[in-house]
Amino acid sequence: MANNERVQIMDIPFVNNTKDLFIEKEIKEHVQLQKKCFIVTANPEIVMETRRNKTYKAIVQSADYVVPDGVGIILAAKHRKNPLKERIAGFDLMKDMLDLANESGAKCFFLGASEEVNEEAVKNICTDFPKLKVAGRYHGYFDINDPAITELVLKSEPDFIFVALGFPKQEEWIHKNYHLFSKGIFMGVGGSLDVFAGKVKRAPDFWIKLNLEWLYRIIKQPVRWKRVLPIFKFMWLVYTKRT
Ligand code: UDP
Repeated sequence: MANNERVQIMDIPFVNNTKDLFIEKEIKEHVQLQKKCFIVTANPEIVMETRRNKTYKAIVQSADYVVPDGVGIILAAKHRKNPLKERIAGFDLMKDMLDLANESGAKCFFLGASEEVNEEAVKNICTDFPKLKVAGRYHGYFDINDPAITELVLKSEPDFIFVALGFPKQEEWIHKNYHLFSKGIFMGVGGSLDVFAGKVKRAPDFWIKLNLEWLYRIIKQPVRWKRVLPIFKFMWLVYTKRT
């Protein structure tokens, strides 16, 4: 993907494409050619974390694709008069990748969330995408430096590796292990396994259309209220041009 198809927001190069074209033109090609890639789905919280943590910033910048997940990123690009075509929500992208894996009988590894959530999510995914193969699964409460987990994933030779450890841990795990793999689409998927397990509800379309998914999540999980502060800080930086 050419550099002019990226939009830089606070030093992070965002993919400027629709979700469908991104899957069609980029991901399908990687799967067909068994070419590995690292995808970050970045929202304002992740961008703010890259401003605080330089090592994490370098990891995000090293990804092959950073997709804009979160209305804040879309508003920031618009404000800079360099609009992005579409918000690409991590959960929707994961669903499309599972569809792709289902079509091609590809092998998926699911790493992360609690054991209970991981088991339930993988069970539900197998029901919804019966032709994909589960290369393996493992919960997310391990030491990210544990070589046994890396070995487990490596041995299963997955085509897709969905890492649900939350940021920055999921991107750190991918970055640390990526060079050991010869193939695989690696993506940090945050709380997506919780949604597949039915533990967390995705916002209804009405909220998503109004760009209020973030508010819905806070109302449903009030413990997340602190996570809204970086979103406001990000928007404040965008509108006061302090970046
Ligand atoms: N998680 C994990 N290991 C950890 C910390 C978190 O597996 O050490 C999981 C957690 O159980 C949840 C996901 O990572 O399933 C993070 O979800 P969150 O909603 O915080 O992610 P977001 O999408 O907001 O980044």
